[in-house]
Amino acid sequence: MPTAPTFVIVGASLAGARAAEALRAEGFDGRIVLVGEESERPYERPPLSKGVLLGNDEPSVAYVHPQEWYAEHAVELRLGVRAQRLDAGGHEVELADGDVLPYDKLLLTTGSSVRRLRVPGGDLDGVLYLRTMADSLRLKESFAAGARVVVVGAGWIGLEAAAAARTHGADVVVVEPHPTPLHAVLGPEMGNVFADLHRDHGVEFRFGQGVAEFRGAEGSVRAVVTEDGTELPADVVVVGIGIQPNTELAEAAGLAVDNGVLTDSSLQTSNPDVFAAGDVARWQSPLYGRQIRVEHWANAQDGGTAAGRSLLGGGGAYDAVPFFFTDQYDLGMEFGGDLGSGYDDVVVRGEAKAREFVAFWLRQGRVVAGMNVNVWDVQDDVQALIRSGRPVDARKLADGSTGLDSVYAG
Ligand SMILES: Cc1cc2nc3c(=O)[nH]c(=O)nc-3n(C[C@H](O)[C@H](O)[C@H](O)COP(=O)(O)OP(=O)(O)OC[C@H]3O[C@@H](n4cnc5c(N)ncnc54)[C@H](O)[C@@H]3O)c2cc1C
Repeated sequence: MPTAPTFVIVGASLAGARAAEALRAEGFDGRIVLVGEESERPYERPPLSKGVLLGNDEPSVAYVHPQEWYAEHAVELRLGVRAQRLDAGGHEVELADGDVLPYDKLLLTTGSSVRRLRVPGGDLDGVLYLRTMADSLRLKESFAAGARVVVVGAGWIGLEAAAAARTHGADVVVVEPHPTPLHAVLGPEMGNVFADLHRDHGVEFRFGQGVAEFRGAEGSVRAVVTEDGTELPADVVVVGIGIQPNTELAEAAGLAVDNGVLTDSSLQTSNPDVFAAGDVARWQSPLYGRQIRVEHWANAQDGGTAAGRSLLGGGGAYDAVPFFFTDQYDLGMEFGGDLGSGYDDVVVRGEAKAREFVAFWLRQGRVVAGMNVNVWDVQDDVQALIRSGRPVDARKLADGSTGLDSVYAG
């Protein structure tokens, strides 16, 4: 009698946990091993820069499943151990503790790691990053009232950390080389909405400036020196300058890698028995007709589920519209779409100044992305506009009394 197959998932992450869940939901009764370098069972990262960092939520809110779920679903957790070598031809993964796991199919959900700022003083105590649960708890401790916090990078992580630090009563300066926050992801028009939001909460920005060095005393950071020589006093520094996909294992195994592990639309890599999902995967998007890599929660959640089905040979194409959300102070926002190919107009429905609006990015008269700020239950309609690929009438789009299904041109 043939033995039941073994599926190994490397990366005990949101995507990895959702894939295991999908496998069991689809009736897979073989062995599932979920390998993770961190000592924690799979958890979601968004609370780490929001409720947990603010002190409003216990860290336990972040877990994807209760501990007992893994035994109940016969998902073997191998935590605190790195998968250090993949032999894709031999169908084996070698762990750092020397164990070798044979597999029939493998899923890579190794996610991404923070990009480090390599300047003098970068190793000083108090120069911190935010990726893991431990990072979040450490930061929360250092965000005391009156602490001087310098945030390097006005991306999502930097801005959420700035909001949390201000809410704790710390003084916050954000250093950013671009002229607005979120410059590359939203463009200047909507980046300014976030600049105003933070200024209104007492955050100071230093735009157009990179960091030249960190200065310290007795091993701890004391100041951030910007490229123009300004010295910003700092008790703690949060660096949020982006992430890079954890592709080492795949690359060393000879899989196709280019800013992510390359997959087809079913999340299958260049090796037919290896799949990839979440931050690490650069997948062929049917919607965009090119490979895209998405560094957001929903992509780990839905991509993980899709990969689980693909491991079983079903499920079809993974065809999500990239989606992101954030919460900063009293602003809640959802964003759908992709600005990677540029845009030529931004249309606003509602009051940008009052921070209650929907913004639409257009390219050649078609909606390529949309963001609802403190307006809810419209993201499905926004994504329907994006998917349609049809030209819209900008006046109707801006008019809140016109339904979003009635804004097409002509
Ligand atoms: C603080 C923070 C806040 C965020 N907030 C939001 C938000 O508000 N909205 C949003 O849409 N997105 C948000 N994100 C992004 C979102 O959390 C990520 O896109 C998501 O975590 C990606 O999940 P993943 O499953 O791909 O992998 P990851 O979460 O990166 O996890 C990968 C795991 O694999 C492990 N691993 C890597 N290599 C190996 C190996 N060789 N062997 C064993 N284990 C390995 C890693 O240690 C890690 O535990 C946030 C991210 C952070 C850090």
